[in-house]
Amino acid sequence: MSAVVQSPIVQPVRPRPQGYDVERLRGEFPILATTVHGKPLVYLDNGATTQKPLAVIAAEKDYYERCNANVHRGVHALSQRATEAYEAARDRVRRFINAASAKEIVFVRGTTEAINLVAQCFGRARVRSGDEIVISAMEHHSNIVPWQLLCEQTGAVLRVVPIGDEGEFLFEAYEKLLGPRTRLVAVTHVSNALGTVTPLRRVIDLAHRHAVPVLVDGAQAVAHAAVDVQALDCDFYAFSGHKAHAPTGIGVLYGKEALLEEMPPYQSGGDMIKTVTFEESTWADLPYKFEAGTPNIAGAIALGAALDFVAGAGLEAIAAHEADLIAYASERVSDIRGLRIIGTAAPKAAILSFTLDGMHAHDIGTILDHHGVAVRTGHHCAMPVMRRFNVPATTRASFALYNTRSEIDVFVEALLKAKELFA
Ligand SMILES: *Cc1c(COP(=O)(O)O)cnc(C)c1O
Repeated sequence: MSAVVQSPIVQPVRPRPQGYDVERLRGEFPILATTVHGKPLVYLDNGATTQKPLAVIAAEKDYYERCNANVHRGVHALSQRATEAYEAARDRVRRFINAASAKEIVFVRGTTEAINLVAQCFGRARVRSGDEIVISAMEHHSNIVPWQLLCEQTGAVLRVVPIGDEGEFLFEAYEKLLGPRTRLVAVTHVSNALGTVTPLRRVIDLAHRHAVPVLVDGAQAVAHAAVDVQALDCDFYAFSGHKAHAPTGIGVLYGKEALLEEMPPYQSGGDMIKTVTFEESTWADLPYKFEAGTPNIAGAIALGAALDFVAGAGLEAIAAHEADLIAYASERVSDIRGLRIIGTAAPKAAILSFTLDGMHAHDIGTILDHHGVAVRTGHHCAMPVMRRFNVPATTRASFALYNTRSEIDVFVEALLKAKELFA
């Protein structure tokens, strides 16, 4: 069972996890040894993208040095080698999220493309004028705009589950929004702007009682806690490789086989067909039906390596380590006057979003950068969340498996210096 499902990603402050060798893990990430403005890099922008370990860099390099050829076409040795490695990566993904079959794993560019694929293909199969799509108020733009487009195309209506003052998912409001016209629920697993963890099991169970499928945006979850799509019983699960220590340009759409079967493709061309005549074409079997054109072969293979790396570090251990980091960081900033944490719902992932009285987020980010500390500032592709909390922007520190308490100390010191400058 998944750690996310069973227990909060973040528990209350407790003793530091034992036996997690963060220094050894850090040694696997060359970029962590670089300096910025003469200061050691403190990378706290993992919600935007994560750094890559040597094994991932090596997998990509090795592919181009030893395997490069197009997949699924050639009878020659390199093409077969590339195809085998590409399909092995698909099976790696399947095991990582515990999907029932590799047919249910579609390689895409990332979360954004995965959600667009479902919006267009599921949309065409199932959504009609007057139907409803339910999302939450804490979605990333990638899980809002594709549904707006679908609504424009079909005459369907977007319904939004509100969030509370802590950034919590309001379950009772959700219950009221589900109805006979609901065709799909699309919710984030973890909010990138707030850190809120959606109560997925309850959300999915209730939707299923109405026979409504659920898409989960897992961009902020897969590298941080174990995800088991069968235990969750979600119908679609989307994530990006680059937020899980893999390269950019590769991601995954998981979909239950029966649903993927009934959906028509929305991109077409090579690799996704069985037969083509000028009168008619027939589609390839799953998952190839949704993989038109030459895919990001090296990226998929490197994603496999990234998932090996994450699994090797241990998802339970990573979740416990990150729980320690967010508890420590929240405690350290709690006595900074004028600092307001945006997103305080429990359970919460290792994302610290905040405002500081009298200072604009971009100024905070710029000063932190001069101390070597990389954070994100702005609306985090979640403008409705900013509006909900009545702030133009926040500063966000987001943690990953390689961050440390001493990096949080550097971050807090830099924050205090930034505050002095504006006092
Ligand atoms: C980053 C992110 C996305 C978009 O991911 P891309 O890799 O840019 O496609 C979607 N949802 C959430 C919650 C995210 O954090």
